[in-house]
Amino acid sequence: KQAAYAAMRDVRPTTRDGKRIMVRINAGLRDDIANLNLTGADGIGLFRTEFQFLVSATLPARDRQTRLYRDVLDAAGDKPVVFRTVDIGGDKTLPYLRHDDGQGEDNPAMGWRALRVALEREGLLKVQARALLEAAAGRQLNVMFPLVAEPWEFDQAKAIFDGQLAFLRQQKKQLPEAIRYGVMLEVPALAEQLDVLAPRISFLSIGTNDLTQFLFAADRSNPKLAERYDWLSPAILRFIRRVVTTLDGSGVEIGVCGEMGGRRLEALALLGIGIEKLSITPASVGRIKDLIGKVDLGEVKAAMDGWLAQPPLDMRAAMTAWAIERGIIGD
Ligand code: PEP
Ligand code: MG
Repeated sequence: KQAAYAAMRDVRPTTRDGKRIMVRINAGLRDDIANLNLTGADGIGLFRTEFQFLVSATLPARDRQTRLYRDVLDAAGDKPVVFRTVDIGGDKTLPYLRHDDGQGEDNPAMGWRALRVALEREGLLKVQARALLEAAAGRQLNVMFPLVAEPWEFDQAKAIFDGQLAFLRQQKKQLPEAIRYGVMLEVPALAEQLDVLAPRISFLSIGTNDLTQFLFAADRSNPKLAERYDWLSPAILRFIRRVVTTLDGSGVEIGVCGEMGGRRLEALALLGIGIEKLSITPASVGRIKDLIGKVDLGEVKAAMDGWLAQPPLDMRAAMTAWAIERGIIGD
């Protein structure tokens, strides 16, 4: 099977009824860049910049950040790369970035992490913004902010980029050819203000790892809860479908970058609710490309509409039977 998936490298994933689906990879380290060619993915939909911070003994200096981002862009060539600004804090603690009180948190996943840290330690985001803007000189830069809960958090983060951009312009440095800003939808509250946010952003990426932990109030790292809630729950699928519907016609690009998209039935469900861009773990790319080629998008959309209007008792069982019947998955 692995060999069959490897043979899919040059396949441009398209549904049977002709819809091209974007399949990108999640990455974070220099070594991950090779996966772009190995998988033949459509780009990097999530570059987790905090990995460089996590493997480093000290705060990575600006030139080291710039070098990494430039190498990633060089390797990606014409394929797009979405850089997520640091998602540190919470359980991804850095010894060199201490809490003011030096204490641990009771709920780190809901604590001082990601953009919350970056906006408070503004210097951190300024340095990263400068590194990203310089690395993308003459090219397109896609920047994504994690764990945004309120539109003003996006505004503040973007203002830091604008400040660095103005500085570089004044220095007569070469600027990126275009800059696209986006957010991750991980905090359910943000879904209630998409109308406010939409005019400000170019894209939105649904981080299903954190989103499901917050929707179900279930710690994603607690093994006792790992089996309890299903990604195929109508709660999640209806939620994501509502986001898709709300943004319809807004011009905001929408995708999913959580682990959910790398699983076959889950990817099928996402296609059925209107998601056409996935960013997944490299090991799943062959499997998902294979799936896409077997799907009739119109048919799966109609099926999802039915299931979400009147959810079957066991969504997974219903979808499995449906997909086997059509030869989309083996039994
Ligand atoms: C997510 O939360 O779904 C996500 C992609 O980000 P991370 O897994 O890095 O938190
Ligand atoms: Mg996340």
